[in-house]
Amino acid sequence: MVTLTADVVVVGAGVIGSSTALELARAGLQVVVVDRLNGPGQGSTSASSAVVRFNYSTFPGVAASWEAKHCWAAWPDHLRFVDQAGMARFCRTGMVFLDVDVAPKERIVPLFDRAGVAYEVWSPSVLAERVPGLDTGRFWPPKRLDDETFWAEPTERLGALWTPDAGYVDDPMLAAVNLANAARHAGARFVFKSQVTGIRRSGGRVAGVDLADGERVDAPIVVNVAGPWSSAFNEMAGVGDDFTITTRPMRQEVHFVTAPPEFDHDDQPGPVIADLDLGTYMRGAPDNGFYVGGTEPECDQMQWLDDPDQAGLDPTKALFEAQVTRAARRFGDLGVPPRPRGIAGVYDVATDWSPIYDRTSLDGFYVAIGTSGNQFKNAPVAGRFMAQIITAVENGHDHDAHPVRYQGEHTGLTVDLGAFSRRRPVNPDSSGTVMG
Ligand SMILES: Cc1cc2nc3c(=O)[nH]c(=O)nc-3n(C[C@H](O)[C@H](O)[C@H](O)COP(=O)(O)OP(=O)(O)OC[C@H]3O[C@@H](n4cnc5c(N)ncnc54)[C@H](O)[C@@H]3O)c2cc1C
Repeated sequence: MVTLTADVVVVGAGVIGSSTALELARAGLQVVVVDRLNGPGQGSTSASSAVVRFNYSTFPGVAASWEAKHCWAAWPDHLRFVDQAGMARFCRTGMVFLDVDVAPKERIVPLFDRAGVAYEVWSPSVLAERVPGLDTGRFWPPKRLDDETFWAEPTERLGALWTPDAGYVDDPMLAAVNLANAARHAGARFVFKSQVTGIRRSGGRVAGVDLADGERVDAPIVVNVAGPWSSAFNEMAGVGDDFTITTRPMRQEVHFVTAPPEFDHDDQPGPVIADLDLGTYMRGAPDNGFYVGGTEPECDQMQWLDDPDQAGLDPTKALFEAQVTRAARRFGDLGVPPRPRGIAGVYDVATDWSPIYDRTSLDGFYVAIGTSGNQFKNAPVAGRFMAQIITAVENGHDHDAHPVRYQGEHTGLTVDLGAFSRRRPVNPDSSGTVMG
């Protein structure tokens, strides 16, 4: 039997686990990362649309994403490393957030002002001019395709909130590989194809993990970054009783089609479009591609899972037609091909669609979970949040009573990490969707 020893075991080598490993290694800890898959970023990270945007319902959400955007924009500096595997790239396309009552701009604009996020408020006529081919009609509420009012003509026009610094990362799995390789460079070790099956305890605190093949890793700190498997892993550790926020896996599909003809114009790649009015979001992709995802409209049945491994990973015809036809309602020239193309992935959804970055009641057991389909963008700072919380708590700080405050290196903004507590009140301003 092989036993590894370390200061910390990070369970999960997705984009958040790899970032956490990097920051812990930089803090001088001996880090072992364990993942049951074959390499970094092969879990839910690989399915990510990797949109980088700043529209969140809380100031810590806005501030974290704004700080993280600066990390993506200076990726080699963030990594302090140039990866021979290639480097993920941030594509700054801007984002158009169409007006919608569940995430009103009146709530977001003051948060942008406070954080210093650049934005413009667009009227319907400015929106029509700036995004050629986009129908500014208000179709609310989102409907099923078999609803006879689906094709009803809109009676009102929508404006939008424009954030020029938003965009997407071109290859989410490569981003996780970059973070993992930078972590290796800083001294972290990675163990792949190895499933964690048990938690070891000693003297009332965590003492390491058991692996499926009879091996184990001894360490006084364990971090749950297991993505959609997070609740199963918490159960294994026997934590959760004092959580006000729970996490649950949800299957999601993202579809691929050819971009509408006017989407890329004047050599400018088209913007990310958040369209809660129709229940979709859209972004461009290389070679004239176009991704269409969903924003959990009430008319659709949500695909909650007991076990993330049960999620079929192929797109279904019904959801493809629903999502792409909604997108085609917005862009009249978008074709709806007869055969579905796309991928399915699994979100780790938290009660209020905001993550948990925190300690737990089991000393030495930490969680970076509940990423709710919206934390890829925050991976660079989530690793820093975790390293700061872990270092403080292990040095005797009472993070529950006096939450650690993180100051962004790029923006200077202070983020009260109590906002990501497992014991926080449920956020009443959450949109109740992937938008957070
Ligand atoms: C379809 C889709 C679209 C998305 N779009 C966006 C977007 O546009 N913008 C955005 O910001 N975010 C987006 N997200 C969310 C974002 O991708 C996730 O929040 C992020 O990738 C989660 O990373 P992670 O490292 O926490 O989890 P994961 O990448 O899932 O990694 C968890 C890892 O843990 C491992 N693991 C689990 N249990 C065990 C065990 N017992 N033993 C060993 N290993 C284990 C798994 O193998 C896995 O590799 C999207 C997500 C999906 C699914």
